[in-house]
Amino acid sequence: MIKNITIYCASSPGIPTHYFEAAQAVTALLVNHGFGVRYGGGAVGLMGTVADTVLKLDGQITGIIPKFMIDVEWEHKGVKNMIHVNSMHERKALLIQDTSAVLALPGGSGTLEELYEVVSLKKLGFFPHPIILLNTNGYYDPLVEMAQKMADENFMRPEHLKIWSVANTPESVIEAIEKHEPWGPEVINFAAVREGEN
Ligand code: AMP
Repeated sequence: MIKNITIYCASSPGIPTHYFEAAQAVTALLVNHGFGVRYGGGAVGLMGTVADTVLKLDGQITGIIPKFMIDVEWEHKGVKNMIHVNSMHERKALLIQDTSAVLALPGGSGTLEELYEVVSLKKLGFFPHPIILLNTNGYYDPLVEMAQKMADENFMRPEHLKIWSVANTPESVIEAIEKHEPWGPEVINFAAVREGEN
């Protein structure tokens, strides 16, 4: 059975070129390593680049898109395996079903929302798989800094810094997936910071 990776990424077409190049490179590497892709079904921005790259390489891709986005013509017409859902919530739930990793490419508020939901699920033990940030051009440095601040000031435990891995290049995404440490339901035992702990 093919292993899938869920990719969250920007829908904006107006971002700098190097983000498109990195999205294309990492998608090609993933397809060549035998991954199928699950993504949000869009046709533009990095979402469009991811889908176009998979299709060009004859890889497998599943889009999951809410019906209202089809009405405003945001759906990628070339992706045959497209699941139409009723809400953003349903889409988010399906995106991380039948997957063995999550990859966040640079993105806007939608990407961050999707990323932070899966991060929170993993923190509570409901998602055991690798979560990787592709840190093209240091895009995610402020988020990494924020997570460090959360740990330093005891908003979460230092162990939670291991919820995601940061990959600075497309090649290191594959390495990060392969090196992922087991993360089972027992993580609930350290999900909360206890009274007096610092
Ligand atoms: P963002 O990172 O803000 O660009 O958001 C990416 C996410 O926003 C996607 O997963 C979708 O939930 C949604 N989205 C926003 N614009 C579009 C679009 N034109 N096509 C498809 N999805 C979009």
